[in-house]
Amino acid sequence: MKIHEYQGKQLFRTYGVPVLRGIAVHSADAAEQAAKELGSPVVVVKSQIHAGGRGKGTVYADAARKTKVMDGGVKVVKSPAEAKAMAAKLLGNYLHTIQTGDEPKQVKVLYIEEGCNIAKELYLSILLDRSAGAPVMIASSEGGMDIEEVAHNTPERIHRVHFDPHIGLGAYQARRIGFEIGLTPAQVTQFIKTAQALATCFLETDADMVEVNPLVFTADDACVALDSKMSFDDNAMFRHPEILAMLDPNEEDASELEAKKHDMSFVKLNGNIGCMVNGAGLAMATMDAIATYGAAEGAFPANFLDVGGGATAEKVTTAFKIILSDANVEAILVNIFGGIMKCDTIANGVLQAVKEVGLDRPLIVRLEGTNVEQGKKLINESGLKVIAADDLKDGCEKAAKAALVYRASRGAKA
Ligand code: ADP
Ligand code: MG
Repeated sequence: MKIHEYQGKQLFRTYGVPVLRGIAVHSADAAEQAAKELGSPVVVVKSQIHAGGRGKGTVYADAARKTKVMDGGVKVVKSPAEAKAMAAKLLGNYLHTIQTGDEPKQVKVLYIEEGCNIAKELYLSILLDRSAGAPVMIASSEGGMDIEEVAHNTPERIHRVHFDPHIGLGAYQARRIGFEIGLTPAQVTQFIKTAQALATCFLETDADMVEVNPLVFTADDACVALDSKMSFDDNAMFRHPEILAMLDPNEEDASELEAKKHDMSFVKLNGNIGCMVNGAGLAMATMDAIATYGAAEGAFPANFLDVGGGATAEKVTTAFKIILSDANVEAILVNIFGGIMKCDTIANGVLQAVKEVGLDRPLIVRLEGTNVEQGKKLINESGLKVIAADDLKDGCEKAAKAALVYRASRGAKA
């Protein structure tokens, strides 16, 4: 789970990571008011989207990126009136950055922050290094830049230190990093406090990534986190209702949220074959098989979906609704291995769901395992237009062909 910059800074504040004063707003009028309240000669109007590179991004009036509004989603302004004007140009518009991919993100929240007199920009982040089984702090003298580029062009300017998740980041570790990135002794003292506070914030919130780019030093050697990017381990979020409350539904895929509510793992993809599978391993194998055996028909999975071991009829119905809500889906492949669940139970669930939801696209069902004969019989005798498949390969090929036929029939109607 990801959060916005302004929410990350709220967490920073509670852990003692130094941040500037700022106010999150949803309207141009509120932006003006916030700038007045901050009362600093310079304020920065910052678009809040779940993607980095906002400063160097481009603002468009439409999601298709046809009409450009201006360069940059982070704007320095010198008066409340200017803050209001800039907010009006950002809110409701679409921000495209190197991290958004082709689809820009609509700006719905702005963070109005007091301006900072930057003397030095640094890079500081903490990630979970899974291969080392420990968190790692990464720092660089090259702040405010794309860190991947720094790592590629000047790897010697990137410094790392692993630390014990139970002990936290040692002052000696932060000190070494501070000198490595070229700080003065006075700055190192500030840096140690900030780095240790950031490490505590990372550990106590069950984050899997926290990035401050840039971390800056002002002319009078104060250390400030000028940006914040955080993401968390979803499996630990039950321990953090206050962080879970920060979830922004605008930034999440609606069908993924719906699946989560019903305890199903669902990831939307951009193919044409909707997949309903039990077990994550089987779901992944099914996706591979669709891409392989449906290649000739241009078939590709439209989603990853694991309905779980205890798939009830109700869950199957929900899964159907989620899959059918995707207009790109041209056929649905149900691939269930009846282990703990029996195939006839699954077949009944599928049929009930089909009756309830009203299926308008071809449905291919492959069942294997306990009571497979009863399951197949139920489907064959149901009178519903369900295509039965013998094995995984057969199912994938049938789904790919059915999708092609469906597309052609729609084309004929249009
Ligand atoms: P992003 O990384 O998404 O582009 P940042 O928060 O890093 O967004 O902002 C981009 C740049 O804008 C920063 O590198 C910094 O130079 C400048 N900036 C951001 N916040 C402030 C601020 N409060 N005062 C002055 N400059 C700022
Ligand atoms: Mg940044």
